[in-house]
Amino acid sequence: MDIAIVGGGIGGLVAALALHARGLVPTVYESAAEMRQLGVGINLLPHAVRVLDDLGLRAQLLESGIATAELLYFNKFGQRIWREPRGIEAGYAWPQISIHRGRLHGLLLAETRRRLGAGRILTGHHLAGIEEGVRPLLHFTDRTSGAHRASVACDLAIGADGIHSMVRRHFYPDEGAPVWNGAILWRATTEGMPFLGGRSMFMAGHASQKFVCYPISKAHHDAGRSLINWVAELRFDPDRPFAREDWNRNVDRATFLPAFADWRFDWLDIPAVIEGADEVFEYPMVDRDPVARWSFGAVTLMGDAAHPMYPIGSNGASQAILDAEALALALTGHDTIGGALEAYQEARLGPTAAIVRANRNQGPEQVMQLVEERAPGGFERLEDVVTNEELEGIAARYKQVAGFDRATLDSLAAAPRG
Ligand SMILES: Cc1cc2nc3c(=O)[nH]c(=O)nc-3n(C[C@H](O)[C@H](O)[C@H](O)COP(=O)(O)OP(=O)(O)OC[C@H]3O[C@@H](n4cnc5c(N)ncnc54)[C@H](O)[C@@H]3O)c2cc1C
Repeated sequence: MDIAIVGGGIGGLVAALALHARGLVPTVYESAAEMRQLGVGINLLPHAVRVLDDLGLRAQLLESGIATAELLYFNKFGQRIWREPRGIEAGYAWPQISIHRGRLHGLLLAETRRRLGAGRILTGHHLAGIEEGVRPLLHFTDRTSGAHRASVACDLAIGADGIHSMVRRHFYPDEGAPVWNGAILWRATTEGMPFLGGRSMFMAGHASQKFVCYPISKAHHDAGRSLINWVAELRFDPDRPFAREDWNRNVDRATFLPAFADWRFDWLDIPAVIEGADEVFEYPMVDRDPVARWSFGAVTLMGDAAHPMYPIGSNGASQAILDAEALALALTGHDTIGGALEAYQEARLGPTAAIVRANRNQGPEQVMQLVEERAPGGFERLEDVVTNEELEGIAARYKQVAGFDRATLDSLAAAPRG
C-alpha cells in the first residue's frame, strides 16, 4: 500500500512509526526544507506515553524530558488552590512527560529515519494541491520558490499538516482562518533553579491573565538546575486584529512583562523567570470549530489538521499521538481503506471535538477563574471560597473528556497489546 503522510510534525512522525510497527511503510512529505528542532515545552499525557511506549520510545523520552510528578493551580497572589499527583505518582502505569518539543521531534525523526529509512522522509515537499480519486494524486511544490517538486499518486493520503492544513482546506475551502479567542501566549524557556517539588507543573492566575510553568529537561534536573518552560498569557478584545499564528515569531518581552511585575511569589519570582529567557515566542490562542468529517475516500486528517485546539490541558500533541495509533489500528483491522478511514474517524472525531469544546471553557483551568471571581483579593482559607468537591469534580470531568481518567488507563494497561 502506498501511504503518503503530509506533514512531518509530531503527529505525522508518530503515524509513520505506528504504521511501520504494523508492517506498513509510508512516506512522509514535509514542507520545511530542513528538519530543525523547533518549539519550546510540550506535555505528553499518560495515554499518549502509552502509545510511544508501545513503539519502544519510553526510555528515550525519559532520558530527555521530565516525568512530571504533580500539577498545581494558584491564584494571582501565588496562593495554592489545587494540587494533584500526575503520571506514575498518580498511580498510572505510564508517566506524564514534559519535554522540549524540538527534542521530542528530533527523537521521533531519528527513529523514523532509522526504522523506515532516510528516503522515507522527504523535506522541501509542500503540498499545494490534491486530485481526489481511487488513487489520490498529491502535488508538491518548493514552499519558498513555488516551483513544482513532484506529483505523487498513492493509495492513502494522511493530512498531518498542522493548523494551516492544506489537506483540510481542500475539503473545507470556505473555512477561513483559525478562530482567535483574544488571548495571546508568550512562550519561552529559562534556565533556573528547581521550584516547588522539582518535577512540578503549575498554573497561576485566572482566565484573563495566567502564567504556566514546568521543567522540561532531565539533564538540568540531574545537575540540580531546571530548564523552565513557561507561558505568559493575557487576554485582549478578540475583535482587534492579531498576527497570524506562527510558532516561531520572536517578540520583545516588554509587551507583556509589566503586567506580571507584581507576581513575585515567595516560592518563585515570575518577573525574574521572564527576564531570564533568551528569546520569547508569541502565539495567539486559536482553534477551529470541529468538522463533521475527516475522511473522504482515500484521504483523511489527523492531529492539528483534524482538530486544532487551544493549548490547554496538555492535549495538543497527546491527541495527535492517539490519532496516529487509532489510524494504524484501523488500517490493519479493515479490508478496505475506506472502511478503515471511516472506523478511524468514528473512533476519534467525537472525543477530540469534545476536548476542543472543553478547552473553550478553559478545561481544568476553570478552577482558577472560579476562585478569582469569588475571591479577587485573595483568601484566608481556601475552603471558604471553593469546596474540595467542586475542585475534584472539575479535574475528574476533564480527565474523562480527554480520555486519561485512571479507570480508562487501567483497562488499557490490562489489555493485550496490539
Ligand atoms: C515549528 C513548530 C513549533 C511548535 N512548537 C510548539 C510548542 O512549543 N509547544 C506546543 O505545545 N506546540 C507546539 N507546536 C504544535 C504542536 O507540535 C502540535 O500542536 C501538536 O504536536 C500536534 O502535532 P501535528 O503533527 O498535528 O502538527 P505539527 O506538529 O504542527 O506538524 C505539522 C507539520 O506539517 C508541516 N506542514 C504544514 N503544511 C504543510 C504542507 N502544505 N505540506 C507538507 N507539510 C506541511 C509543518 O511544517 C509541520 O512539520 C509547534 C508546531 C510547529 C510546526
